[in-house]
Amino acid sequence: MKLIIKNGTIINPAMHQHETGDVVIKNGRILAVGGCAEEDPTAEVYDATGCFVTPGLIDMHVHLREPGQEAKEDIHTGTQAAAAGGVTRVATMANTTPVIDNAAVLRDVQERAEREGVVKVSIIGSVSRNLEGRQLSEMGDMAAAGAAAFSDDGHYVESANFMRRAMEYANMFGKMVIDHAEDMTMCAAGYMNEGRVSYRIGVTGRPAAGEDLAVARDIILSKLTGCHLHVAHLSSAGAVELVRRAKAEGLNVTTEVTAQHLYFTDDCLRNYDTAFKMAPPIRTEEDRQALIKGLQDGTIDAVITDHAPHTNEEKDVPFCCAPNGIAGLETSLSAVMTALYHKELLSMDRIVEVMSVNPSRLLGVEGGVLAEGMPADVTVINPEQEWTVHGEDLYTKALFTPFEGITLKGRAVLTVVDGEVVMKEGHVLK
Ligand SMILES: [Zn+2]
Repeated sequence: MKLIIKNGTIINPAMHQHETGDVVIKNGRILAVGGCAEEDPTAEVYDATGCFVTPGLIDMHVHLREPGQEAKEDIHTGTQAAAAGGVTRVATMANTTPVIDNAAVLRDVQERAEREGVVKVSIIGSVSRNLEGRQLSEMGDMAAAGAAAFSDDGHYVESANFMRRAMEYANMFGKMVIDHAEDMTMCAAGYMNEGRVSYRIGVTGRPAAGEDLAVARDIILSKLTGCHLHVAHLSSAGAVELVRRAKAEGLNVTTEVTAQHLYFTDDCLRNYDTAFKMAPPIRTEEDRQALIKGLQDGTIDAVITDHAPHTNEEKDVPFCCAPNGIAGLETSLSAVMTALYHKELLSMDRIVEVMSVNPSRLLGVEGGVLAEGMPADVTVINPEQEWTVHGEDLYTKALFTPFEGITLKGRAVLTVVDGEVVMKEGHVLK
């Protein structure tokens, strides 16, 4: 099996490579990157003229919902959505039913992912049993079984002392702790960002200060324990500044931002549209600008989706009743291309760093680079392709998307996992 991706612009920042040429794939591995491939009548050829050829995109924060919540999503549909979005690996969170808090559940999800997954799946174990923040999860067993990191994502770990113990324990296994940073004493009663828009439409808000407090606490705990802290889905300007200062101090702290927080502001919630309801909430234009600045200057390491699908029945209800979370795997790259690349706010090289190189390093998995002998996980992106998003056309089970009816510019046109084409021109083949 040989595949030649011809004549694309190869964006391979890990090798300081940005040039037009061919990528040759054979038997699941990369054979050559750059230059002009020899003609081979037996090879499949994909003409990537005008497109970017990048290492496979990696989304280090998704919720595949399996086991237990398959009405919202399952491993097959979730990874189909990933393939459609140009993503070759996802890391899925532990807040399933049952919770991924021991090695038996983790291995079960691994086996399901092996069987049903269209793309590669890394698994994040919880830090506490049943996400209750009271007893530590079986981190040692889960680390041995291949957990990529530990997180109670979806829930804030309320007890500082418990978080300290969790970080000390995770650190023994060399794993990072990913925190969902929202101080619930300030945020639990809120449904959107607290500010001008929430006051006007009469909805109780979640203040940015609630996020900043939680981020500050966990940075202090990272300093105390030495544990790698990865702050999930940063959304406030204040939190960006806290992480910036922690990095300047040389602390072991990294962070990520969702594509939707880079694209939208809380003005979008004026009509009480539940498709924009998530936690942490979409905030103000000032926060959005700070997030972009954080991506540009290296404060923010990764762009993620926080792909968190819900059923129509759950989401199509009055605003305050709807659960937090949206599907994002199929729109993330296109949103970043539209809002940042085409506005000249982020180079393609930086986009590949934050959507492939850095997530691969943070998860400790192969990938993030096009290099001879490496597994052939490759994404081809047409930067000029425009498409209008309709929830019902997407592979995810979720019908709601905040991008409904929006025309985005730039889209993945080919997704290759271990040398196998799993998506071509928008069609997922598995
Ligand atoms: Zn979260």
